[in-house]
Amino acid sequence: EPYIPKIIEVNYIEGSNDQQWRSRDFSWTKKLEANNKKVFGNHSFRPNQREVINATMSGHDVFVLMPTGGGKSLTYQLPALICPGITLVISPLVSLIQDQIMHLLQANIPAAYLSANMEWAEQQEILRELNSDYCKYKLLYVTPEKVAKSDVLLRHLESLNARDLLARIVIDEAHCVSQWGHDFRPDYQGLGILKQKFPKVPVLALTATATASVKEDVVQALGLVNCIVFQQSFNRPNLWYSVIPKTKKCVEDIDKFIKENHFDECGIIYCLSRMDCEKVAEKLQEYGHKAAFYHGTMDSAQRAFVQKQWSKDEINIICATVAFGMGINKPDVRFVIHHSLPKSIEGYHQECGRAGRDGQRSSCLLYYSYSDYMRVKHMISQGAVEQSPLAMGYGRNMANSGRVLETNTENLLRMVSYCENDVDCRRLLQLLHFGEKFDSANCKNTCDNCSRVKSFVEKDVTDIAKQLVELVKLTGQQFSSSHILEVYRGSLNQFVKKHRHETLHLHGAGKHLGKGEASRVLRHIVIEEFLVEDVKKSDIYGSVSSVLKVNESKAYNLRSNRETIVLRFPCPAKASKLGKCEVTPAKGLLTSGKLIPPQVDTPAQPQS
Ligand code: ADP
Ligand code: MG
Ligand code: ZN
Repeated sequence: EPYIPKIIEVNYIEGSNDQQWRSRDFSWTKKLEANNKKVFGNHSFRPNQREVINATMSGHDVFVLMPTGGGKSLTYQLPALICPGITLVISPLVSLIQDQIMHLLQANIPAAYLSANMEWAEQQEILRELNSDYCKYKLLYVTPEKVAKSDVLLRHLESLNARDLLARIVIDEAHCVSQWGHDFRPDYQGLGILKQKFPKVPVLALTATATASVKEDVVQALGLVNCIVFQQSFNRPNLWYSVIPKTKKCVEDIDKFIKENHFDECGIIYCLSRMDCEKVAEKLQEYGHKAAFYHGTMDSAQRAFVQKQWSKDEINIICATVAFGMGINKPDVRFVIHHSLPKSIEGYHQECGRAGRDGQRSSCLLYYSYSDYMRVKHMISQGAVEQSPLAMGYGRNMANSGRVLETNTENLLRMVSYCENDVDCRRLLQLLHFGEKFDSANCKNTCDNCSRVKSFVEKDVTDIAKQLVELVKLTGQQFSSSHILEVYRGSLNQFVKKHRHETLHLHGAGKHLGKGEASRVLRHIVIEEFLVEDVKKSDIYGSVSSVLKVNESKAYNLRSNRETIVLRFPCPAKASKLGKCEVTPAKGLLTSGKLIPPQVDTPAQPQS
């Protein structure tokens, strides 16, 4: 019988700015601080750690978005230590679990794990301990498969719960729950059963990467109730971003870039295929760099050897697939270069995030070509893209099937539109994806677009906006933004044909626009809420999709010409198809439809 998640109103509470969680007057504060020092050897708490701990210890369901390396583990290990009973931790990888257990045992915290490929006798012994009256473990780690497949485990959890010994349930790497995430793991979806069976036990969900739709999806699938969300800014001010057109001379360009900017410094070059990794590494060696490759077909001893060499600075450059990176804590990675298009903005953000952990300036370069897009798209449809270890083993059978394929394609298209955007701040674009508003003035020219685009032309795009809103309405408010854009630009692919969109009068209405232009207008009217992006469960198995809907009250203003939309385009660059190019200095944003010189209505201020 398939598990059917209940559709609940997603209601979460923003916790990051709530003073109450910062308080040092909780009954456990003294114990908390003492154990943080004594057992974990920390002098203080990192941002949000105290807040998260206070909220989860108060019994709430909590969702934590904290960058990799931010210190998520402490937010459940410390409560586990000072609360009576046992904390159940769901973690996706046995290697991660073993690493955690090793650290816990070193700190004298009794912990154990159960996984499917463990000796039965060993499992029996752990289960017996769980059954005993004075169960010694403070933490029990399991993989999601274990929860999904082992009735024995569930029965033991029920027994613990009945004896009031199940203190807390922790879902680490919680974005794996969502098909929108880049590491979807089917077994994570079944974890909703835990909240059903143990409604009174607080759940703590942790991740370093989640967009607004992933967040909603996770909260729903896990069945979290009045969940408190702690989220930090995902902006990394010391990383410098740029996208570079990819040519045949790509590796030469990379060589030159490294020699000029990061000579003898340490970095990662992400490549699409195993073959690419080997070729790029070989070429860089020819150019005199200490480079090596790393990918999934190497055996684990080889991989460990390469990683160790790199960690010890015996080699500077590692050419790797996304299989490389989990649990890497090297602080002085000075550059992350993407030799080809990443599969999603989330993945891209996370991969770039491995640079500059020490806070020093570091470079993130992305080499983009449209033909790489075709290549990645094909590989995704074949299930042939190497996955990050979190999703590994699930890629081949899952990645090319139905909804997951659609999601992957959608994620890829968003990445393409990021690359093709030569106007907006890269930080703004990335952070928007995580539901975070960013003022591009704070970029301070640390991305290619901000530093290049000095003058703008302002264009009235109201008519385009009207057409897009109309198109969303005409197609029944059930399609994603990338699909709407395809129809608007006149695509004739199978999906468009199947839905007979080519008969609509707006099919192809945006043909004359540049690739990036229509998508910028669409993105803008979503940000300004003329359209809303809605996450919906689309079938009984709970798969989700993101669809555009019309916000009628706002759309009315547009249709009745009460609002006009003006966007800036770089000048005199390529984007001159919308109208005549008139340079205006990059000052205050215009909101009316006409080009008004800045400050034209402002009376001269008397000098003081
Ligand atoms: P995450 O799971 O968020 O990626 P971890 O929990 O693995 O991060 O922690 C990353 C590193 O930060 C670990 O080495 C950990 O010991 C350290 N750390 C966590 N909290 C603190 C703290 N309050 N003070 C000092 N170091 C900390
Ligand atoms: Mg972690
Ligand atoms: Zn910028």
